[in-house]
Amino acid sequence: MGDFNQMVVLDQVRRAPGGSSRVELAGATGLSLQAISNIVGRLIALGLVVEGERRAEGRGKPRTMLHLNPRGAYALGVHVDPVVVTSVLVDLSGDAVAKTVVDTPTGPEAVVAAVAAATRGLLERAGVDREAVLGLGVAAPGPVDFASGAVVHPPLLAGWERVPIRSMVAEATGFDVVLEKDVSAAMVAELWRGERMLRGTSVFFYTGFGVAAAVAVDGELVRGSSRNAGEIGHLIVDADGPPCACGSRGCIGASAAAQTLVDEAVARGVLAPGTPAASPRELDAALTAVAEAASDGDAVAGEILTVSARRVARGITTVADLLDAQVVVFGGPAWSRLAPHYLPVVRAELAAHATLRELHAVEVLGSALGDHVGALGAASLVLDGLFTPRPSDLVVRRAAPAGRG
Ligand SMILES: [Zn+2]
Repeated sequence: MGDFNQMVVLDQVRRAPGGSSRVELAGATGLSLQAISNIVGRLIALGLVVEGERRAEGRGKPRTMLHLNPRGAYALGVHVDPVVVTSVLVDLSGDAVAKTVVDTPTGPEAVVAAVAAATRGLLERAGVDREAVLGLGVAAPGPVDFASGAVVHPPLLAGWERVPIRSMVAEATGFDVVLEKDVSAAMVAELWRGERMLRGTSVFFYTGFGVAAAVAVDGELVRGSSRNAGEIGHLIVDADGPPCACGSRGCIGASAAAQTLVDEAVARGVLAPGTPAASPRELDAALTAVAEAASDGDAVAGEILTVSARRVARGITTVADLLDAQVVVFGGPAWSRLAPHYLPVVRAELAAHATLRELHAVEVLGSALGDHVGALGAASLVLDGLFTPRPSDLVVRRAAPAGRG
């Protein structure tokens, strides 16, 4: 797909809601009509773009509209989480055409076997040939060693110490595999699907078993030196807050952790003493019970979540000010349960305390992609890597000096 101008044209067609004519494409991209015609010819031959209806524009002769062919190519996405492994098959528009969720098996080998079985099943169910699949994205809890394609030690996944998941999944499935942190994959999904974060600075705040952030500037993910930017879990947001495994108190990760919320709910009588919370699955179910109690009007449960939200909001305000962010999007596996309790608190905190509030508002949104944003993001990585034009791709880099690889 490599050609930059070809990616620019495909992106333009993909993002035009009613399609785009060759003349409009020339106007939007600054390329000549001849160049556009050549590129469109190639995209049609590749099956990525189709010609549609003819539409009259002004007094000129009607022009043929071009549309993305969503079924022109597919990508697979897998999200490995302590509770479930979610696999999706998406078409070129990023829509899931098939999805499978299984309980996370114990140990990396069993997880990889489950991924291989799930992806085979998705292709069969959707009736899609392997050849039409461009690749497989894996989203995993960070941090990730990108040089070796290994997850380092993800929270709550027992037996996962430097597991080379990228090569294991590639071997088990036969697909080219891209590995990314779950939060970064979620941000890529938002960028691939939405328009809101293509300009300015945006933050994705991920709530699962850990918390993490991803940052995008003008639609491009900020990766950091080892591509692990966004590990904000130990940002202290309340010196009197809950203890954290790092030895401090009131880290943002501990303040939002299911363990903290569930422990507090048991201690204050929202949940029965002895409520099982030892495994990730039990903990997840207990978190659901706390959120449901709060939604049903239990004042103590509501207060537990509001205090947590206030702590998180303080951290988000610092991060938004640090980056001069205009949009903050929340998502991840715990988000749909926390959203009704968190959103109003975070919005109020930013409106009242962000240093930059006099210059611009910060929009706080929930992800539109739901609980499966990690898996959709993993699949989006494949599409994004092949089809999103990046100005940085055009920069000719000087070779790194020896020893600094
Ligand atoms: Zn900490």
